Amino acid sequence: MKHIAILGSTGSIGRSALAVVDAHPDRLAVAGLAAGANAERLAAQAERYRPAVVSLASADALAALRRHGLPETVAAGCGAEGLTAVATHPAVDVVLCASSGTAALEAALAAIDAGKTIALANKEVLVMAGDLMMAAARRRGVPILPVDSEHNAIHQCLDRRPPAEVARLLLTASGGPFREWPAARLRTVTPEEALRHPTWSMGPKITVDSATLMNKGLEVIEARWLFDVPADRIDVVVHPQSIVHSLVELRDGSLLAQLGATDMRLPIQYAFSYPERWEAPLPGLDLARCGPLAFEEPAHDRFPCLGLAYRALRGEPGLPVVLNAANEVAVAAFLEGRLAFPAIPAVIEEVLDAGAARPAAVPDSLAGVRELDRWARERGATAVAGIQSM
Ligand code: MG
Repeated sequence: MKHIAILGSTGSIGRSALAVVDAHPDRLAVAGLAAGANAERLAAQAERYRPAVVSLASADALAALRRHGLPETVAAGCGAEGLTAVATHPAVDVVLCASSGTAALEAALAAIDAGKTIALANKEVLVMAGDLMMAAARRRGVPILPVDSEHNAIHQCLDRRPPAEVARLLLTASGGPFREWPAARLRTVTPEEALRHPTWSMGPKITVDSATLMNKGLEVIEARWLFDVPADRIDVVVHPQSIVHSLVELRDGSLLAQLGATDMRLPIQYAFSYPERWEAPLPGLDLARCGPLAFEEPAHDRFPCLGLAYRALRGEPGLPVVLNAANEVAVAAFLEGRLAFPAIPAVIEEVLDAGAARPAAVPDSLAGVRELDRWARERGATAVAGIQSM
């Protein structure tokens, strides 16, 4: 029996993870659940799965949870302390990091220190502190198993192959809902349009990131850390059907691909079952019904965010932190109707320029990462205000 803790249990990935637990009641048990503000759903999950410990982001949310009622055996906490208590609870074997944003950074590092296997769905954690995370995992001998579908595919294709055999990682991108839109029309994109993803059903921030191709940019950075492969050997190909989840090119020219249904239960189950393979919780992929599979170059001119992510990865070690923070500020402003869609990369570029010129932009500790993140968010708010006043 593997005991799972889920950070972000009420979100889209968290609920898929619980569906995987439901499919394997003899192999998986829930030991901890953490969520943001959704007290009602967490109360229902605690009632059903009876974890040892639960946590919510704030004391107010915790009070709401207690009003909804909690089984007597379930300990409850809140804030950073509560999240870390869930991630490090002695009963936990595997921690699924699936909360959005960067709140889970400290908790993920604490889980590594406590020797927990990490199933990683939160790419911001590696974008902000990939070096620190991977070093801690190596030191502690803890596996980090990717749940992000592309990285999960690459993990499967690599299959413990010697690094010298690997020429290149090839991440597939759906291209988002505006793949075929001309530049002029992109200026009119509304938040509602950006939230309609063609192939995956996900939370709002990552859906907007998919529409700008920043999601793929963050995934390139994520891949650099997960697989220890430099930016020059990580490429992106647009594949609108999202059937091929990613590929690995070997030294002899062979391309290995992983294909599967577009359902997050599959990569989540892979991370929970690894190194075993368990029966699928859904029907297999019927290739004859998939229709043609297409591949094309990303349109860098209409979607500059991907290029900005490569720039951040090739620059000073702190620039991915700056990129990520500026992107979060810009996406939030777009979702609130305060920023036009093409202004998202404009804000990020302005903050990256400022970050590259900033001395000591090389964080070597979590505190340094947090400070750089704070600076970039403030600088991002200034850039948003500047563009609004134009
Ligand atoms: Mg992905």
